[in-house]
Amino acid sequence: MDSYQTLVIGAGPGGYVAAIRAAQLGQTVACVDRWIGAEGKSTLGGTCLNVGCIPSKALLDSSEQVHRAQHQFKAHGITVGEVTVDVPTMVARKDKIVKQLTGGIAGLFKKNKITRIEGSAELLGDGKVAITAHDGSQQTVSAENIIIATGSEPINIPVAKTDGDRIVDNSGALEFSEVPKRLGVIGAGVIGLELGSVWRRLGSEVTVLEALPDFLAAADDQIAKEAAKAIKSQGIDIRLGARVTGTKVSKKGVTVTYETAEGSEKAEFDRLIVAVGRRPNTGGLGAENAGLKLDERGFIEVNDQFLTSLPGVYAIGDVVAGPMLAHRASEDGVMVAELIAGEAGIHRDYRCVPWVIYTWPEIAWVGKTEQALRAEGVEYRAGSFPFAASGRARAMEEGQGFVKVLTEASSDRILGVHMIGPYVSEMISEAVVAMEFDASAEDLARTIHAHPTLSEALHEAALAVDKRALHI
Ligand code: FAD
Ligand code: AMP
Repeated sequence: MDSYQTLVIGAGPGGYVAAIRAAQLGQTVACVDRWIGAEGKSTLGGTCLNVGCIPSKALLDSSEQVHRAQHQFKAHGITVGEVTVDVPTMVARKDKIVKQLTGGIAGLFKKNKITRIEGSAELLGDGKVAITAHDGSQQTVSAENIIIATGSEPINIPVAKTDGDRIVDNSGALEFSEVPKRLGVIGAGVIGLELGSVWRRLGSEVTVLEALPDFLAAADDQIAKEAAKAIKSQGIDIRLGARVTGTKVSKKGVTVTYETAEGSEKAEFDRLIVAVGRRPNTGGLGAENAGLKLDERGFIEVNDQFLTSLPGVYAIGDVVAGPMLAHRASEDGVMVAELIAGEAGIHRDYRCVPWVIYTWPEIAWVGKTEQALRAEGVEYRAGSFPFAASGRARAMEEGQGFVKVLTEASSDRILGVHMIGPYVSEMISEAVVAMEFDASAEDLARTIHAHPTLSEALHEAALAVDKRALHI
């Protein structure tokens, strides 16, 4: 029986990063994963690289180029002929990027001397794991430490069963061979909005059906309002308070039935994307037999040091309750690898996890929303700055959106930063660093920001907390 100091189950951004960090710290490491990629071969990178973060951003970027050519070039004095879209080429570009990046992880495994095992892992207890390879052959390996990083999978609702053709999940929505004329999306969460944006920019009529009455309830209210305005103005029809209760697939398309406060309604689509959330992936792990405790929603229970109910077995990333984000999974992975190696005892703390939604304008935040501070009775101050007053944003024809900084009234400590605007996915890191260092708005206000940059909007919002913004 092969034996390792650390065995990682799952090679998504949680698992592969944990494996690399453990190997860096001198451990003997193996990583087992069962993912089969588009070419029918075993591949690394999990949801994020294969059907999540990376392919969605590749298509978002392609569709943004189309949008610019069609709608923004003119303002710059550039005339182009008719803009046509070759969907198979666009999708093939996305596939090439995925292949390069997943291949890159295989290279990193080799460099760090991590043993890669292809197959599905099942916990046997006492540090033993049974692995069934894709050809059905079996082996048992043992490890002093086991890190479970089995991630999540899309929730499949019985009223809209995916068929890989008319009704698809996030994987299928990244593989359409042509632009659907009428596209329905169930769920106005991050994934629904990003995928809806891709196909809208390429020409689909997009309708998003969302059961909840509020739009982007997790975001700051003011940001959610601005986002709703921007997304609607792009022609995406967002219907709130619309709970899908049935679907019927025919040769011509799919008929969706949904309930609203006014009663039952129907809509016809050529394709339907189901994006109603994700659930922890523990199928096949043998959790019950091994005595691995799950919570009532199926997430693996861990303490603040990632330890599960089983000795020597840790869990990280999407399979543990918390933000279902790739960067959170990776940081969990680093922390648990360091804990196992006896490094400094860091504990789980998601106060400074940034959130990003890659619509256009982009949305990003870290920390508390204004409504949460109000609900908690915290005395706070707020400062905002619009991109319309940013020289760089105006030079880019991207004056939409704003930045808002929230601080504790008594100390000026930053409690939350909220952004909607161009490339705020890149800008949010400055706010995260500030919060990690417990900075005040005054610290940001006294920091020299290069001119002209989009990040000056954060500088000005910090000044605005003290009512001394210079450019509004
Ligand atoms: P996963 O990436 O899900 O990896 C788990 C791995 O474990 C898989 O490879 C699976 O095959 C393997 N596995 C499971 N069970 C077993 C078993 N028993 N034996 C062997 N192997 C097993 N997050 C962001 O931060 N930014 C984004 O922009 C973003 N965009 C997204 C867009 C889409 C369309 C989707 C679907 C998700 C997106 N996410 C994004 C979320 C992100 O993909 C996840 O948070 C992240 O992948 C979680 O990482 P993980 O390592 O926990 O799990
Ligand atoms: P998220 O969990 O952020 O990916 O978002 C998924 C969204 O889908 C949530 O806002 C849910 O309210 C929404 N949702 C779930 N089930 C349905 C349904 N049957 N009809 C419409 N929206 C739904």
